[in-house]
Amino acid sequence: MSIDKVKQAVEIIQSSGNIVAFTGAGASTESNIPDFRSAGGLYGVGGRNRYKYPPEYMLSYTFFIDNPRDFFDYYRNNLVYRDARPNDCHKALSRLEEAGKLKAVVTQNIDGLHQAAGSKTVYELHGSIYRNYCMKCRKSFSLDYVMDQGKPVPLCDACGGIVRPDVVLYEEALDENVLASAISAVRKAEVLLVIGSSLVVYPAAGIINYYRGNKMILINKTATPYDWSADIVINGSAGAVMREITPGICDEILDEI
Ligand code: NAD
Repeated sequence: MSIDKVKQAVEIIQSSGNIVAFTGAGASTESNIPDFRSAGGLYGVGGRNRYKYPPEYMLSYTFFIDNPRDFFDYYRNNLVYRDARPNDCHKALSRLEEAGKLKAVVTQNIDGLHQAAGSKTVYELHGSIYRNYCMKCRKSFSLDYVMDQGKPVPLCDACGGIVRPDVVLYEEALDENVLASAISAVRKAEVLLVIGSSLVVYPAAGIINYYRGNKMILINKTATPYDWSADIVINGSAGAVMREITPGICDEILDEI
């Protein structure tokens, strides 16, 4: 981690009251949730995918409709981590919001860890595993219902319809209101923190194009197609970097959550 870049990032964060964070699966790997594109991620050779299909297909609307049993088997075993707890990245962002410095988290993640850390304004571009609904009568269900009902495909206890997660599958559109709120927050941000995303999944990744400022700090373990447009690129682990660049704001309270 370059000391100069860390110092610059600290100064930018300390002097701003209008920070927005854009996070991806890399923000949650330190909570032991695999991402898609790291070596040990779901797309990797070691990914626990006993099906012959690529994850994009397993998580597509077509696959869900055609093979709901296999979809739920894959989904329950690869996308849901009920024991995961927020890491220092989630906690630091929550503390920045509490301090009145961070206006919103825009996340591609579906794991609910930003809210678990205490973040209040979170735009979940791809939905959440914690919201589930009957496709027939729209009744809402908990994650536990989907996981523990004991049926290969969870069924509504009111009408017998399929209960599906409120997550955006490949081929499905993003929620218009969530997208509009996310774009508005990014457009108005003075500082944009981009954390743990390969920035190759669209339209989500395209949202950072709406940023108008000159204080974009990109934190990622590996290179991304947007490194050129960032003002500061810090290659490192999200939790460790967030700890370094938020001294005084977060350090004394990180252990308390
Ligand atoms: P991705 O897997 O494509 O990319 C993750 C990026 O984060 C990689 O560039 C990787 O090098 C980096 N990274 C991994 N661990 C890191 C760490 N500790 N610190 C810093 N960087 C780290 O993920 P994406 O860009 O978010 O896009 C993939 C899609 O995956 C999203 O649409 C999301 O919905 C879905 N997804 C979500 C979760 C989750 O909710 N936690 C998990 C897996 C996939």
